[in-house]
Amino acid sequence: MTLVFASNNKHKIKEIKSLLGDSFTLLSLHDINIWEDIQEEEPQIEGNALAKARFVFNTCGLNVFADDTGLEITALNGLPGVHSARFAGENKDSSANIEKVLSLLGDTENREARFRTVIALILDKKEYLFEGIVNGTIIREKKGTEGFGYDPIFVPEGKNRTFAEMELAEKNTVSHRARAFEKLKEFLIQY
Ligand code: IMP
Repeated sequence: MTLVFASNNKHKIKEIKSLLGDSFTLLSLHDINIWEDIQEEEPQIEGNALAKARFVFNTCGLNVFADDTGLEITALNGLPGVHSARFAGENKDSSANIEKVLSLLGDTENREARFRTVIALILDKKEYLFEGIVNGTIIREKKGTEGFGYDPIFVPEGKNRTFAEMELAEKNTVSHRARAFEKLKEFLIQY
């Protein structure tokens, strides 16, 4: 089955290819000649995922899925949430985003957080949503060099290392995105 994945993020494309396996051919936005940044202005990650999938479907009519993820920190009332990519500014600078989170949290004892991914799929003109969550904690300083985004400060529940201290295969055993994509994969296999 051929599907467009509405992304040009190389890290994510690599992650998703390894999660979905060989039965699916994934096309990136560049593969279908979409070079512009798709707007992500909805107040919730569900809306952003749907907006991206609809944009691609309306442009090329192909089956497509899009994902959107937020880091939701309890002590910050769910922030950065839908603002995760641009938390510290328009240039999506991961180090600046991390610094902002750490400085807002300061010495706060409650370090509880979760990553939440929502995938919107448009298949044969019908829309579907899939969600994946991983709970964890925000540590006080960065650790590790793997991954991307907030990985260096997030320790998933049941582990004692950050996502940035894990190989991709280990991250995939527990990650929000892996859980959402497992649901997508199960759905597609049974379709
Ligand atoms: P996106 O919706 O997948 O583009 O994610 C939005 C933002 O959330 C990214 O720019 C990252 O800052 C953050 N993010 C998403 N997934 C991850 C992850 O697996 N690890 C760390 N940060 C992530």
